[in-house]
Amino acid sequence: MKSLQDPVSVLKGVGPKRVADLATLGIDTVGDLLTYYPARYDDVTPVDLTTVKDRQKVTVQGTVVSEPLLTRFGYRRSRLAFRVQVGQQVIMVTFFNQPYLEKRVELNKPVTVMGKWDAQRLQVTANKMLAAGDQEKTGAGAVYPVNKHIRQATLRSLIRQAFDEYQNVIPTLLPKKLRDQYRLMDRREMIHDLHFPQNAGLAKAARRTAAYEEFFLFQLRLQVIRQANRQASGNRILYHNDELKKFIAGIGFELTGAQKRVVNEICRDLREPYQMNRLLQGDVGSGKTIVAAIAIYATISAGYQAALMAPTEILAAQHAEKLSKVFAGTHVHVGLLTGSLTAKQHRELGKAIKTGAINLIIGTHALIQDDVEYANLGLVITDEQHRFGVNQRQLLREKGNNPDVLAMTATPIPRTLAITAYGEMDVSVIDELPAGRKPIETRWLKVSQQNEALHFLSDQLAAGAQAYIVSPLIEESEALDVQNATDLYNELAKYFEPAYKVGLLHGRMSGDEKDAVMHDFQEGKIQVLVSTTVIEVGVDNPNATVMMIYNADRFGLAQLHQLRGRVGRGDRQSYCLLLADPKTDEGKARMKTMIETNDGFVVAQKDMELRGAGDVLGNKQSGVPDFKVGDPVGDLKMLQIARQDAADLLRTPHWDEQDDNQPLVLYLHRHQLETHFD
Ligand code: ADP
Ligand code: MG
Repeated sequence: MKSLQDPVSVLKGVGPKRVADLATLGIDTVGDLLTYYPARYDDVTPVDLTTVKDRQKVTVQGTVVSEPLLTRFGYRRSRLAFRVQVGQQVIMVTFFNQPYLEKRVELNKPVTVMGKWDAQRLQVTANKMLAAGDQEKTGAGAVYPVNKHIRQATLRSLIRQAFDEYQNVIPTLLPKKLRDQYRLMDRREMIHDLHFPQNAGLAKAARRTAAYEEFFLFQLRLQVIRQANRQASGNRILYHNDELKKFIAGIGFELTGAQKRVVNEICRDLREPYQMNRLLQGDVGSGKTIVAAIAIYATISAGYQAALMAPTEILAAQHAEKLSKVFAGTHVHVGLLTGSLTAKQHRELGKAIKTGAINLIIGTHALIQDDVEYANLGLVITDEQHRFGVNQRQLLREKGNNPDVLAMTATPIPRTLAITAYGEMDVSVIDELPAGRKPIETRWLKVSQQNEALHFLSDQLAAGAQAYIVSPLIEESEALDVQNATDLYNELAKYFEPAYKVGLLHGRMSGDEKDAVMHDFQEGKIQVLVSTTVIEVGVDNPNATVMMIYNADRFGLAQLHQLRGRVGRGDRQSYCLLLADPKTDEGKARMKTMIETNDGFVVAQKDMELRGAGDVLGNKQSGVPDFKVGDPVGDLKMLQIARQDAADLLRTPHWDEQDDNQPLVLYLHRHQLETHFD
């Protein structure tokens, strides 16, 4: 029995070498091959040559009327020429450096070639010959994303073979009702028309079906997970309300309205028997950390442990330091689990976690990867883990005895989209900054105005401020990036010392070295911190009021906004200085956006407009999966409709027992078991 799960090696012409080559494109099974969609289509509708302009790209279909003539020049170069009758006209077709095509040109046989039309000489300089089998069928030529291991033609013929042999086992996943409602194709037709469309219109219609199908299946999976999660039994974390209130009263500031609302949402989840699965969104500086602290306190006062996971060791250390202060004198005992512990320290900490003597464990993702054994883990919080996808989020939930999960992120993606991307989670949003915050003043200076910037900085330092200085980003090489930061550090140390102390932070320093520098900066022993982008996320020093970014145009908007969010955290006026001579309009637009707004959501929106959704919402950054066909921003409407349709289907009684829906049930089942969601 044929199945789309069959390995590609069942196909003719696919041996071990080709299996490996296909794997480089992520193609392992026949199903993978059939859903490896073209990136675009070349219009290969044959043209009427009498209407074509000189030098235009054309597809020509006709009959070969002369024996092909192959001329070789030296080792690599060659020219293949033959005459073709097209309608009433005879033209010359030439191919350069594709000698192997000679055997495909036969006298009196039809041929279709693509190339550039030379009207004077009545000649086509061709670069592509369509496969014989495709000639009548093909009106729009699929072009696949390939790499150096696989040629277009190879892929194309394998897909053809796979389709011919497997078309009868391609199940239609979308329920008939939806297909009728939106006039979508069945799946076999869709796959056919994606690869071998007769014309551009059919290709487009197939894409529309594919985009909807992709969105619908994604949403259905998220919602099935969500349903299962809701039913999964978690812990009832029964904290003492009065005790929690007392803790909140002792924080030292009044929570904002948004923080109060969010704390209530979280605390309700903690008390309930289901497993919390909540995303906490809030712009940088909106005060997510204290919300996390309250949730931790509640959990621990109910007798459970809590874990806090940060993306970097610096941030983990900083959270540990800060929370140790927040929890001083309480029954919360903090342990910091990092790679820089000695084996002995590691062992001892492990023991204390296992016995429950340590009840708040802070660290990087080693927290869930290592064999850390918890006494009774009740809550896992992830900070700035917006790079997490659905899979990893699910993994977290399986740690220990079904802990509640709170994921915090500062990535300001528009709310509609957040709900969509994190469809299996509940979403809480802190949409208000603590009172008394003065908006950060952002200025854009030319690189030649560096001295002005440094004067300004000196004035601020004299008034007691501290500053971050971010060195130009060198993406190509970490070594160069570090070198650059070091050079800038030397230059600025010369400029500011001994009046003010300058520190250096970069990714090649050891954990201990970084900790020491951060500590000194936090304590005010260092006034100016020169750094690569390692400070991008989460670092909190309310006394730092100046952020200066060299070659700011090399950074993306989201990153600039994150960097800027490192200042403006106290009640003093803060500044962000962007040194940049952008060369492109897009670069200029980014600088303008930074000057015009402090609102992360506006920045994110602008970012999407400038860069396109794909880049902004790439899988790694936001947790939004990389869809093959659908564009989650351009087709947002469709995504929302698909989400609603998925919810409606799940609410239909006994939908999963109807014959029409069996392929869908099977599909869901398989993907649940594999837990490969993206
Ligand atoms: P985020 O993690 O959301 O970027 P933080 O939790 O680090 O923000 O908070 C930023 C700063 O604001 C911290 O110094 C924090 O102590 C302070 N803060 C948080 N909430 C309030 C509030 N309601 N009133 C005053 N200051 C606050
Ligand atoms: Mg934070």
